[in-house]
Amino acid sequence: MSIQKRISDIRKEIDARVTLVAVSKTKPIEAIKEAYYAGQRVFGENKVQEMAAKYEQLPKDIDWHLIGHLQSNKVKYIAPFVQLIHSVDSLKLLQEINKQAQKNKRTIDCLLQFHVASEETKFGLNMIEAKELLDSPEYGMLQNIRIVGIMGMASFTENQALVRHEFHTLKSLFDTLKDSYFSTSDAFTEISMGMSGDYRIAVEEGSTMIRVGSTIFGSR
Ligand SMILES: *Cc1c(COP(=O)(O)O)cnc(C)c1O
Repeated sequence: MSIQKRISDIRKEIDARVTLVAVSKTKPIEAIKEAYYAGQRVFGENKVQEMAAKYEQLPKDIDWHLIGHLQSNKVKYIAPFVQLIHSVDSLKLLQEINKQAQKNKRTIDCLLQFHVASEETKFGLNMIEAKELLDSPEYGMLQNIRIVGIMGMASFTENQALVRHEFHTLKSLFDTLKDSYFSTSDAFTEISMGMSGDYRIAVEEGSTMIRVGSTIFGSR
């Protein structure tokens, strides 16, 4: 099946208000172009250098989303062009993003990444850490970042009830933050959750942004 067909099949399945992030990590420029010619404009990468190299080679109306763990010392490579950083999990990282955004005279949109999966290895904040971050005077001083929502990953498991439960938890975290910190922010709207294996459940549980790689581009 072609990349074009796979994208249109997913689009038909999900509400038009849900953003489809085509996760193109490890995939060649040609595959991304095929998706681009099918109308896809939002792409996700998890490595800074790879994303920067692809940005150089591809049309400039693509929205590039950084979805993987981001080290502070690498923010500078993507700060000129990145549209959304899904993986903010510390004040230190947010401060560096702010600094690099300022250098580039822009504001960079970010999501706070939460840890809800049962696996130990996944990055992300819990609610206590998120509140600490949002309550800190340092956060209050950041002028060149904007937090527009949250991101999370469910456990990698066949247990659909567990996956659903974790997505439900993410939605509740979003609602809590919306009420307590972002009630006057029109921008705080995004819940990035759902990948190839679980995006249908994620959308049912309130996802506004799904990150789909292998279902579009084939296995890695
Ligand atoms: C790789 C990746 C995806 C996409 O995974 P698929 O299972 O290929 O759809 C989504 N989100 C993150 C954070 C990833 O690293």
